[in-house]
Amino acid sequence: MNMSVHIDGTATAADQPDAKPPVVSIVNVCKTYAKGSLAALTDISFQIAPGEFIVILGPSGAGKSTLLRCINRLALPTKGRIYLNGREVTDARRDLRKARQEIGMVFQQFNLVMRLSVMMNVLCGRLSYRSNWRSLFYSFTREDRAIALECLEMVALGHKAFQRADTLSGGEQQRVAIARALTQRPKVILADEPVASLDPKIARQVLHYLRDVSRRLGISVIVTSIKLILRENMPSALSDSRRGRWSLTVPLRR
Ligand code: ADP
Repeated sequence: MNMSVHIDGTATAADQPDAKPPVVSIVNVCKTYAKGSLAALTDISFQIAPGEFIVILGPSGAGKSTLLRCINRLALPTKGRIYLNGREVTDARRDLRKARQEIGMVFQQFNLVMRLSVMMNVLCGRLSYRSNWRSLFYSFTREDRAIALECLEMVALGHKAFQRADTLSGGEQQRVAIARALTQRPKVILADEPVASLDPKIARQVLHYLRDVSRRLGISVIVTSIKLILRENMPSALSDSRRGRWSLTVPLRR
């Protein structure tokens, strides 16, 4: 089974002599389940440069979520290595809290606390910067609040900061989830099926915000999707016509 990886950019870091080192490097990663009888990922290798926006398209079961879980170390690859900013995340001795601070997550179901305000949900992205007792009591500094508001403004939701999350539409809730990921000041955002539960028009809007923050803040983004609509919509919704576009197909399972 194949998944295709669409990269919005001119070239990989490796093609440009003065390019910055990749944010994420995936090197010969394999992941099997069921005592080796199910190969979810087979020998995957690619790199993501700072600010690159990647869409991984593939049918259900192709291994897209497994790949994202390996990057944030919720799953350990059976073989291969993954580097984040040049440091190996697949190294068991690595401080995972620090590594995960650099990775913002956006999920299909938004994963907001619906009875809390939009602002409080976004502030949750700052928890990894707080000591344990401060996290326990949702104790945030003035600086945290300023960062949260700034991130909400980036997805054009500053005016809804003090509404309960459950008063927002699905597309707005996903934009809150993007703002929450941004407050972490991540190097990379992993968005697992972020538009699967949204209709095409709203999906396009959400992707526009993701692409916009990636470009403005230089954050690398990996989006997974089973929706071909996402690829179809990329030229109008996401591409920058001044830059080239290329794509490659990564065989995930043989
Ligand atoms: P996708 O995100 O592309 O739908 P997944 O990464 O969720 O694909 O799954 C890839 C394959 O690995 C599927 O066959 C799935 O059933 C299997 N799989 C995923 N997670 C587990 C797990 N924790 N235990 C066993 N099998 C799993």
